[in-house]
Amino acid sequence: MDLPKLAIASLGGTVSMQAQAAGEGVVPTISGATLLASVPELTTQAHVTVETLGMLPSASLDFEFLWSVLCWANYQIEQGAVGIVITQGTDTLEETATFFDLLWDHDEPLVLTGAMRSATEAGADGPGNLLDACRVGLTKSSRQRGVQVVMNGQIHSAQAVRKTDSMALQAFSSPIVGPTGLLMEGCVHYLRPTLQRNVLPLPMQTTQKVALLQASLSADTLLLENILTLGYDGLVIAGFGAGHLSETWTASVDAIAKKIPVIIATRCGSGSTARSTYGFKGGEMDLIRRGASMAGFVCPRKARILLWLLIGCRRQDDLARYLKEDVWFQQP
Ligand code: ASP
Repeated sequence: MDLPKLAIASLGGTVSMQAQAAGEGVVPTISGATLLASVPELTTQAHVTVETLGMLPSASLDFEFLWSVLCWANYQIEQGAVGIVITQGTDTLEETATFFDLLWDHDEPLVLTGAMRSATEAGADGPGNLLDACRVGLTKSSRQRGVQVVMNGQIHSAQAVRKTDSMALQAFSSPIVGPTGLLMEGCVHYLRPTLQRNVLPLPMQTTQKVALLQASLSADTLLLENILTLGYDGLVIAGFGAGHLSETWTASVDAIAKKIPVIIATRCGSGSTARSTYGFKGGEMDLIRRGASMAGFVCPRKARILLWLLIGCRRQDDLARYLKEDVWFQQP
């Protein structure tokens, strides 16, 4: 029988981790091939190729490496893969998902997964997540959905998903919109139809630097005042509440926004920034007047990825369009 081709890559993370010696803590050592061996039933469903592209905790992934992973995934699609599955650490999964999704120009699904429990821990979730991710990667109804994250029986869109718990099995959620689908009894069930996607051109440059700062009570402005002299090309601030800053930060942002793109997101973890509610100094109406862009529902970390990619393909002037709520959270 002609089985569909599925390509898997492992990058490291808890899903690939085990302890080398008692009391030493877990580190990434498990190859993609060993991960695949933990889900033997897959071989009856697909012709699977697997590669170990990295052995990194996900905090140490960087754009350059992700770029090489993207090239690998593009090549697998050219070679006839119907879907791509990538295993990695969960700590930066929401960011890599956004990075890939903004550049994934295929109908075929790219699915990211990982684990909250390391491979040798009782109740390890890696094999189950990998099998679920492969099911999503092989399902026809996953086409045209871009990049998705599969964890703990749920499917999340790259743009909405966030790691919202540091240690729990149910570590991922999509605030406001919820998961796009579920895995039940080994089958993929989508809860929402496909949405129009926005794919960016490939970056022409990768040396740009985008800073991410978080507003906090009574914070000094030392870092902020030096953003331009340090050579940053863009700035994202996780602001208070609906996208607000202190008066002192606002004065600094004023000068910065005249030179480089500045995005104000919310540090709340859920919800949108406002546009036309608060009129105080440092409120969103004042910040918009000073040239800042409000992130809407886009979380600070994803806003930074978006701005980095937009600067890379010289589309930073289109920032407002890419931050529009309906681009990220369209109604079906
Ligand atoms: N705790 C992380 C994980 O779940 C470690 C990492 O992101 O590499 O994989």
